[in-house]
Amino acid sequence: MTKQRNRRYWMVIPVVTIIILLGLIFHRTWQNEQRVHKTNTAEKIRIVTSLAVYGEMAQAVVGDQGQVQSIINKASVDPHEYEPSVQTAKAYAQAQLIIANGAGYDAWSTKFAQANTQAQKLNVGTIVGYHEGDNEHFWYQPTVTKAMMDPLVDKLSALKPASRSYFQTNAQRYIKTIQPLAEKRAELTKQLKGKSVLVTEPVYDNALAGLGVHDLNPNFAHAIEAGNDPNPTDVLAWNDAITQGQVAFVINNPQTENAVTRRAVKKAQQFQVPIISVTETKPDGKNYLEWQLGILEQIEEALKK
Ligand SMILES: [Zn+2]
Repeated sequence: MTKQRNRRYWMVIPVVTIIILLGLIFHRTWQNEQRVHKTNTAEKIRIVTSLAVYGEMAQAVVGDQGQVQSIINKASVDPHEYEPSVQTAKAYAQAQLIIANGAGYDAWSTKFAQANTQAQKLNVGTIVGYHEGDNEHFWYQPTVTKAMMDPLVDKLSALKPASRSYFQTNAQRYIKTIQPLAEKRAELTKQLKGKSVLVTEPVYDNALAGLGVHDLNPNFAHAIEAGNDPNPTDVLAWNDAITQGQVAFVINNPQTENAVTRRAVKKAQQFQVPIISVTETKPDGKNYLEWQLGILEQIEEALKK
């Protein structure tokens, strides 16, 4: 009897312990869930993008509800040559919204985006309706900023549904801030009617198309973009266009210059053809508006000469 009671007594202890332990575990889990839930509402949305130009747009829309990390955020880095680091891979793995330029411009960014199955994603190429062979420097398209706003609002709202109207207001405000660009473009389009230009690399072609400007020698620029030397016929055609006074200005991408483009630019300078410097990446310390307006003002100056 005593033996049996003892045995029962010893059996009771583990069961009670297990129940207490389970209770504690459930309670802890419940507490953790509460905590996780609370942090999520207060926590900032983690946004990662390849290019600082899209980072600015995303930050403008997300406001204080999110934090943006732009991987290529220095003018000294050529995105065509960029190789991602382990830190970059980590940032993409932890992101809740990923924005890639697409169209092969930042193939690594698209790849990391695919690997993160949990994240919301935006591909600018898809947004602007890219087709094979189109120019992939989408941030120079006059309509890209407007095109980005609704997709940004939608993806951010999927992460924080309660903030949708806040995101919408931010998007409208951002569009208003860049309004001077549309006005400057409209003025310049009138002044540029019938004018032709030369281009060392097709970085600014989307903007030039928007301004209605004709590139006299696209082969030259495409060879440079592909990392090749333009063929001698195209170099001759470049020089002829300069010497015959057909060129309103030259667009030079200093991030992709080589011996051939330097000679081509020098030729233009000898004949007083204005050189307009246009980079792939946002210059340090400038926002999108200042950057884009700066280029348009250079063009405006060039037309006065
Ligand atoms: Zn380029």
